[in-house]
Order: sequence, then structure tokens, then C-alpha cells
Amino acid sequence: MQKTEQLIYKLRDTHSLTTEEYETLITHRTPESAGLLAAFALVQKQQIYGNDIYVRGLIEVSNICRNDCLYCGIRGSNKNCDRYRLTGEDILECCAEGYELGFRTFVMQGGEDGTFSDAFLTDLIREIKNRYPDCAVTLSLGERSRDSYAALKEAGADRYLLRHETADKSHYEKLHPANLSWDNRMRCLRDLKELGYQTGCGFMVGSPYQTDAMLAKDLKFVETFRPDMCGIGPFIPHKDTPFRDHPAGSVELTLYLLSILRLIHPPLLLPATTALGTLAENGREKGILAGANVVMPNLSPSAVRRKYMLYDNKLSDGAESAQALETLRKRMESIGCTVVVARGDIKK
Ligand code: SAH
Repeated sequence: MQKTEQLIYKLRDTHSLTTEEYETLITHRTPESAGLLAAFALVQKQQIYGNDIYVRGLIEVSNICRNDCLYCGIRGSNKNCDRYRLTGEDILECCAEGYELGFRTFVMQGGEDGTFSDAFLTDLIREIKNRYPDCAVTLSLGERSRDSYAALKEAGADRYLLRHETADKSHYEKLHPANLSWDNRMRCLRDLKELGYQTGCGFMVGSPYQTDAMLAKDLKFVETFRPDMCGIGPFIPHKDTPFRDHPAGSVELTLYLLSILRLIHPPLLLPATTALGTLAENGREKGILAGANVVMPNLSPSAVRRKYMLYDNKLSDGAESAQALETLRKRMESIGCTVVVARGDIKK
């Protein structure tokens, strides 16, 4: 048996490899190893989630950001970004529309906008939970203090998504300005988990300066941190960022890593991300067929949708929009999957 094939069987049976073995699996990948991994990933997903696909309504609450991440189109120093911030009322309207459409999770994602104080957010979270007690509230608002995370949890937030971006500290420093630290990112993730959030981490595939060894570290991090969710998507350059001339990440490698992640932790919630859908024709379907089980359509008001441009050509309409949930349902059915109306918590 080939080396990669042996590693795939080992991963399927033990859900663990050494960092060096993850690297070998990545570096020596072939269409055959990708096929085997995807087949095993689908079996394990099927055993836990059947054909169910969970959907989350993504509300992009603000593109105002104090940070200056080098890869991101809404970085604070981008003068060409047309800034907006939704009001509490706007957000509640998105929830109302989303609930009607069948969403039972609302994800509030945004830049690190200083006006989203704990007081504002706790009021809003309480109101959403009050109106929709059967729904989960997910936050993705970046780095905050432990006290802040605790207050938001106390108000009713269920989940928090904060990609670790890279498990390699020196790589982290190449992707972020000096005032952001890998240690603080890790502190945030630990706090979130300890406070009882269903916690999501994640990383970009093909971000500038990334190596296979770094991706192997990301996989080992997911194996040991044991998040409830892990969001991965290809890096896509944005024309108004310092990384404008770096090439986009690989769709094929993203799919390969999705299969590996499914085998590392079979119950993991794995989204087929917008970035994947942006870069590949039927990207989300391909993601699902590689092992993903979550899709996060856009519920933001259409007037602001084009303004949340994390990267060039980011999809926001068509089947990517929440209003086109019917289209998404059909597309998922065409690959044997069913979009369910449910909170979609991790099955442990
Ligand atoms: N401010 C929030 C939300 C960030 S946007 C936070 O810090 O968590 C959500 C994710 O989009 C980021 O974590 C990043 O991994 C991804 N992203 C940003 N720019 C990108 C780009 N150019 N290509 C692909 N993904 C990108």
C-alpha cells in the first residue's frame, strides 16, 4: 500500500495523525488519495448527520473595522471601502425574514466595530432570543475581552466563530499588523470554549506565505483544540489590500482538507464556505461532497451586501442569498442532501 493510503486508513480508524504525517498527506496528495478521503469522510458524516445539511442565516452587521488584517478587504485602512453599520432594528428585521424562510440560526458577523458595545449586543441578543426562543444565536465579531464574551454568553449567545487563521505564530505575524497577536487570538478561543460557547475556529487555504507544514499544524490544532465548528475557504485576493498580487488558494486543496477535517473529528460542523463557492463552479456542492455539512447563506439587507467585500468578487446573490433558499434546497437535493429547518447543533 502507498504511504498516503496507509495514512488515510490510520486517520479513518484513529482520528489522529502526527503533524509530520498530516504534512505528508498534504504534500503527496493525488486524485486517488482525495477520492479515498472523500469517500471515508462521507461515510462518517452519513453515520452522524445522515443527509442533513444545516443552514445558518449570515447577517453582516458592519464593515467598520478597527483592525488592519493584511488579507481583508474591509481592513480599517482601506479608503475605498464604503462603510456601513446595521442598526439593531435592521438586524431584527433580517432575523424576521430569516425565520420566515426557515433559518433557525442567526450569525451576526462583522468587522471589529467599536460601537458594538456589550450593552448594545446583550440587549440585541436578548431580544432575538426572546422573539425566537427556538433559534441559536452565533456571533462572529472578532477579538473581545473574556468579560465581554462572558456577558454575551450570559445574554443568550450560543456560538462564536473566530478563525484562528493560522496555527503558526510567525505566519500569523505575516498576515496581521503588529498590534494583533497570535497569543491573544488563542486566548480568545480558549476563553470562548471555557465559557461554554459552541466554538468555531478556521483558516484560509493558500493564504500568502502558507506552507504544507503550516497547514499540517492547523490540522493538529483542530485535532487538539476540538472546536465544534471549523470554517475553511480558499484565500482570495482583494484589490485594495497589500496581498492584491498574491494568487488565490486552491479549491482542490480546500476540498482535500475538508475531507481530512471530517475524519479528524467526525461530528465537526463544517461549512462549505462562500469563498469556496466564489472560486469554484458549484463550489458549495463540491464542499458538501468532500465532507462539509453546513451552508451559510447571506441574510444581510441587499443594500449593504456588496459592501461586505472581504475579497474580490465575493458572491452575495444567486443561490448564495438567503432569499434563494429554495434554489439551495434544490441544489442540495440534486446531490442527495436535505436542507433541514433546525438549529443544527453539533451531535456529540
Ligand atoms: N472580524 C471578524 C470576521 C472576519 S471575516 C473576525 O475577525 O472574526 C471572516 C473570515 O473571512 C476571516 O476570519 C477570514 O478568515 C476570512 N477572510 C478575510 N479576508 C479573506 C480573503 N481575502 N480571502 C478569503 N477569506 C478571507
